[in-house]
Amino acid sequence: MQYLSTRGHPDRKRFCDILLEGLAPDGGLYLPEHYPQIDAARLAQLRVVYRDQGYAALAFEILSLYIDDIPSADLRALCDKTYTAEVFGTREIVPLRRLEGVLHIEALSNGPTLAFKDMAMQLLGNLFEYELARRGEELNILGATSGDTGSAAEYAMRGKKGVRVFMTSPHGRMSPFQQAQMFSLQDANIHNLAIDGVFDDCQDIVKAVSNDHAFKAKYKIGTVNSINWARLLAQVVYYFAGYIQATQSNDQKVSFTVPSGNFGNICAGHVARQMGLPIARLIVATNENDVLDEFFRTGVYQVRGAANTYETSSPSMDISKASNFERFVFDLVGRDGARTKALFADGVGQAGKFDLSADPAFQGLSARYGFASGSSSHADRLATIRDTYERFGQIIDTHTADGVKVARAHLGAEPMIVLETALPIKFADTIEEALGRAPERPAKFEGIEQLPKRVQRLPADAEQVKAYIAAHCD
Ligand SMILES: *Cc1c(COP(=O)(O)O)cnc(C)c1O
Repeated sequence: MQYLSTRGHPDRKRFCDILLEGLAPDGGLYLPEHYPQIDAARLAQLRVVYRDQGYAALAFEILSLYIDDIPSADLRALCDKTYTAEVFGTREIVPLRRLEGVLHIEALSNGPTLAFKDMAMQLLGNLFEYELARRGEELNILGATSGDTGSAAEYAMRGKKGVRVFMTSPHGRMSPFQQAQMFSLQDANIHNLAIDGVFDDCQDIVKAVSNDHAFKAKYKIGTVNSINWARLLAQVVYYFAGYIQATQSNDQKVSFTVPSGNFGNICAGHVARQMGLPIARLIVATNENDVLDEFFRTGVYQVRGAANTYETSSPSMDISKASNFERFVFDLVGRDGARTKALFADGVGQAGKFDLSADPAFQGLSARYGFASGSSSHADRLATIRDTYERFGQIIDTHTADGVKVARAHLGAEPMIVLETALPIKFADTIEEALGRAPERPAKFEGIEQLPKRVQRLPADAEQVKAYIAAHCD
C-alpha cells in the first residue's frame, strides 16, 4: 500500500515512513492510494475472527490491509500487546450496549485515560517503539494539551524505549482529575510542563519550537497529533467491531453518530464505509462550536478564531478548525489534489472559508457518502444526561450526550450506534449539575489527586521550554 498527499504532491510513501511524520511536504495529509474492499464473504470471515479470536485479531486483519512494511508476525504481536482485557477492561474491548429500540452506545472509553483516544494512542505507542528500535532512532514528542490528548499520549508512551514526551499544558486550567492523571505519572521519559498561560500559549510554544528547524532536527522533535494516519487507521477497527456486534448478518446496515471536533473519529467511519462496511449514515454531532454542522447543512466551511470558539461543557469538541476534515473533502471532490489544495491552502488558509454549496460534489454528500449532522447545546446536554440516567440508569459523559441528542433526531429503521468518547468521571462538574450527584470513579483512579506530582512549571517562553528539553535529552 502506498500513501499520497491530499494536496497532489507526486511522491508516494509506505506506512512506516508516514508513521513518524506529520504533514506531507506540501502541507497536505496522507491517505492511502485506494481503500481496500471488504466484500460480503470477507466480512463474514471478520465476524468469525472477532467472535472467536477477539478484537486484537480483528485489528490485525484490518491493519494488514494498509501496512505492508511490518512483517505479519510482528504486526500481530503489536496488536495482541495493545488490545488486552487488562488494559481495556473487557474481552470485547469496545462492548456495545442498547439504550432503547435501535439506539445503541459503543463503549470506546475504558482504556487507561477513560477517553476514546486511548484506542488509537495505545497502538501508536507500540508502533513508535517498534519502528524507532528498528531504525535505531529516538523521538522527542512535544505537545500541547488542555486535557484528553496529552494524557492519552503520556499513557501510551510511558516507559517506551526511544521515546520521550514533553507535554505542555496551561498551569491551573485543567480539571483536578485531569491534572492528577497526567502529573502522577512517575516514568522517567514523561515530562509535564505546566505553562503560565492559556492553551493557545502552549500551542504557540509548540509551533515556535517546531519552526526552529535546527533545534527540531538536533533534538528529533515530533508530535502525535490527530492528523497522524496510524491513529485514524486504528480507529477504523472499532467501526467494524460495532457493526458486527449490532447485526446478525451482512445484509443489515447500521448508522453511527459521532461526537466530533477535529473530524478524526468520524473520518475513520468514512474510511470504513468506503471499504464497503454496510454503514447507512454517518452523523456528525457537534456542540455549540458547530463549524462542521454548518458545512454539512449549507456547504459553507467557515473556520473561526479563538475569540469565536466557545468554552463549553463538552470541551474536547471546542474546535473551530477541524484538522482531519481535508481528508474527507479530498474524497468528496473526487480525489483532486489541486482542487483540495485550492480549497484549503487558499480558501481556508487565506479567506478562512470555502463554499461548495453550488458544487455537484456537495449534492452527493448525503446520497453518496451518507453524511448528515446536528448540534447540541449545554441545555441539551444536561437534559440528555438526565433523561439517560432516569430512564436507563446509565450515566453518560457530556460529549457522548451530544452524540445521543443528535442521534435521536436521525433515528431510522437500522441500528444507530453512538460512539462513547469519554467516561463521565472526566467531566464530573457537569454531571453534578445535571444529576445532583457525582459519577462513579473507576477503582483504579481512587485517590489519584493525593498522589505525588511530577511537573515542572515554566513561563510561556519557547526558549525556556527548549532549554528544558535540551537538559533532559541525554
Ligand atoms: C477528542 C475528543 C472528541 C473529538 O474527536 P475528533 O476525532 O477530534 O473529532 C470527542 N470527545 C472526546 C471526549 C474527545 O476526547
